[in-house]
Amino acid sequence: MKMDRRTFLKDAGLLVAALGLSPSWLPKAAEALEEMATGRAPILWLQGQSCSGCSVSLLNSESPGPADLVTRYLSLYFHQTLSAATGVAATEAMGRAMEAGNYILVAEGAVPLGMPDACRIADENFADLLTRAAKRAKAVVCVGACAAFGGIPAAPPNLTGAVSAGEALAKAGVKVPIINIPGCPPHPAWIVGNLVNVLKVGIPELDEFQRPKRTFGHLLHEQCPYFAQYQAQKFAKQPGEAGCLFKLGCQGVVTHADCSNRGWNGGVNWCIRARAVCIGCARPEFARDPEFAFYRLNEEAEKA
Ligand code: SF4
Ligand code: SF4
Repeated sequence: MKMDRRTFLKDAGLLVAALGLSPSWLPKAAEALEEMATGRAPILWLQGQSCSGCSVSLLNSESPGPADLVTRYLSLYFHQTLSAATGVAATEAMGRAMEAGNYILVAEGAVPLGMPDACRIADENFADLLTRAAKRAKAVVCVGACAAFGGIPAAPPNLTGAVSAGEALAKAGVKVPIINIPGCPPHPAWIVGNLVNVLKVGIPELDEFQRPKRTFGHLLHEQCPYFAQYQAQKFAKQPGEAGCLFKLGCQGVVTHADCSNRGWNGGVNWCIRARAVCIGCARPEFARDPEFAFYRLNEEAEKA
């Protein structure tokens, strides 16, 4: 579908508003969307040990929306799940992208360093393909808990020796900027917004875990609608009860993410408003720290 500048500006306006950015971002965001729509977005997306949930989350993006992303804005170099190419055509598409170089490499999923053949793409294991692709990349954006920090594949007993994409690349001696967008899955606006940032502005300001500060700079707990109840020690003691969810194991107290302000599914709801605890999916320790998640926090809560 052919689009005019007005459409890009309108969609960019939605994106900028959704990300809480200054209106001065509008022209750059519109330019990034135009590049993505015309197939010039230099993004190569590879999936390792993943459930594809991060890609599915991307398709839930509301600004631009899923249909827009697929039909207009996702003309990427290559995406394992979304690209139509399969077999030889797929490996050729990846090969062409790598030859061109200077792209943004999106890594989704962990890397099974302890059992490299547990994840293969065509005739190459994922660890080698990721290393080869990262050497020619301008930056690597690790989308999702697994790529960013190891996530569920790296949870004990971690039979495949799974590590994050950043750790795998460091072990292979590849020096490339790494941007971690954790979450299981990450919010679609975290993915789209930060990709646009990297495309048009450069590497965003990052925290000690290489997460963009704008997205992961604040403690979820302090912006939670139940924070006042936490301070007043009005805790729910069992599911279904009113009050702050701390004593049921809510990890909002140690999780940095903007879910409480942003909401999910078009802002309709999010974990805590739906009366589920925050399981800390944006934390570096997510899924790899079961002791903290399910026991220690509750024990501490009992003493509180
Ligand atoms: S529900 Fe969770 S995030 Fe909200 S105030 Fe209580 S402990 Fe903090
Ligand atoms: S509230 Fe917690 S578990 Fe839910 S999406 Fe946000 S960081 Fe993840």
